[in-house]
Amino acid sequence: MYLQENSPLSPKIIARADHNISRAQISENALKVLYRLRSAGYASYMVGGGVRDLLLGREPKDFDVATDARPEQVHALFRNCRIIGRRFRLAHVQFGREIIEVATFRASQEPAGDQDDAHTDTSRIMRDNTYGTLEQDAFRRDFTVNALYYDIRDFSVRDYVDGLTDLRSGTLRLIGEPHTRYREDPVRMLRAVRFASKLGFRMHPDTAAPIVPLAALLDDIPPARLFEEILKLFLYGFGLQAFENLRHYGLFARLFARTDAILDTEEQGFPHTFIAQALASTDARVNADKPVTPAFLFAALLWEPVRQRAMVLETQGLHPGDAIRSAADEILPQQISRVALPRRFATPMIEIYQLQPRFAQRDGKRPLRLLAHPRFRAAYDFLVLRAAAGEVEPELARWWTEIQTTDAAVESGMLSAVTHAARRRTRRRRRRRETTPSG
Ligand code: ATP
Ligand code: MG
Repeated sequence: MYLQENSPLSPKIIARADHNISRAQISENALKVLYRLRSAGYASYMVGGGVRDLLLGREPKDFDVATDARPEQVHALFRNCRIIGRRFRLAHVQFGREIIEVATFRASQEPAGDQDDAHTDTSRIMRDNTYGTLEQDAFRRDFTVNALYYDIRDFSVRDYVDGLTDLRSGTLRLIGEPHTRYREDPVRMLRAVRFASKLGFRMHPDTAAPIVPLAALLDDIPPARLFEEILKLFLYGFGLQAFENLRHYGLFARLFARTDAILDTEEQGFPHTFIAQALASTDARVNADKPVTPAFLFAALLWEPVRQRAMVLETQGLHPGDAIRSAADEILPQQISRVALPRRFATPMIEIYQLQPRFAQRDGKRPLRLLAHPRFRAAYDFLVLRAAAGEVEPELARWWTEIQTTDAAVESGMLSAVTHAARRRTRRRRRRRETTPSG
């Protein structure tokens, strides 16, 4: 079934009849790009996640194209094309909301100890624009299962790195010497966790072994790039698995140091389960096609340190709302210096925090005001998680759940009932205080 040619670099070629990728599964826009490159006389392949996921019978997140056309040449073929990237230049062909990424074949740069200024002294690749052949392009990719090429000429799949064998056995294997490949680009450690978690693959032992010792290399990665990677780890339906793997490989500590330190402790004999529950609920939302936001994700990831700091500040006399605000103001700048969080997400994240103490105030018109708050929904979802984690009374979350499902008339009745109940409670408490001997 394989047509082997006689050079060490010759690929296995899997004919159309011997694999399950059909053009009907490829987006029309990706096909358009593939065909236009080909009719202009360029090499034209689909590569990466598109090929991998279709071979696995999964729906690809996006489609990537590889070609021997230079970015300017791709640009000349498509009106809707932008050239992006400094580290390496890529062409983005835009169709409405879909972007097809077109990458020119590249060779990997030898990280040998020469004076090449494209490398830092830790042999990280800083510039990566050496164009190459299809074969070279296959070997500079990260994992074998990501280096399969779907040829638009005859619909065959080309495999230079035995990726198909790994795909069939569910193995995630780095191409080349793992330490070298992680040093070249430490983000590959996060990508290893991402693909292992998403695909349910087992990392090959040689791919897994260097991660713990090299985890600290992530400290050199720009915060903005880490932010992007974190969204890909946590907002695509396998976040809980990714979180567990990140912890297992010592990577979570490099990204969320304060949260990680707390996760290693117990509180009153209980392990901290809030993040796991938050991620499980985020996964459920993603898999039900409900919207998720980085603001909520980061609110969950940073909650433990913010909450603990706020408790300390409260004992020093701050009101709960102010304590949460001050705690967030302390913790966020440190965190952002490691993993970026754009302001458009940081602002609603802090609002989610600040609304939490207001859920406890159920008398008078306060609940109505809170219900009308633009961030109510996210803050309420956050409250539900806190209740599930045993941090607030389940009754409180239930009350706020019910009040949203009752219509306005009943609602006002319910609110005044609560107001009366609250007054009764206060009176009772006052009476008890008066009758309990103090000292
Ligand atoms: P996804 O389903 O998340 O899109 P993907 O495999 O397509 O997964 P992309 O980030 O879209 O991942 O990258 C496309 C391809 O580019 C990868 O499959 C891989 O071949 C190559 N690639 C991406 N990032 C790296 C990297 N850091 N080092 C080496 N190759 C990479
Ligand atoms: Mg992709």
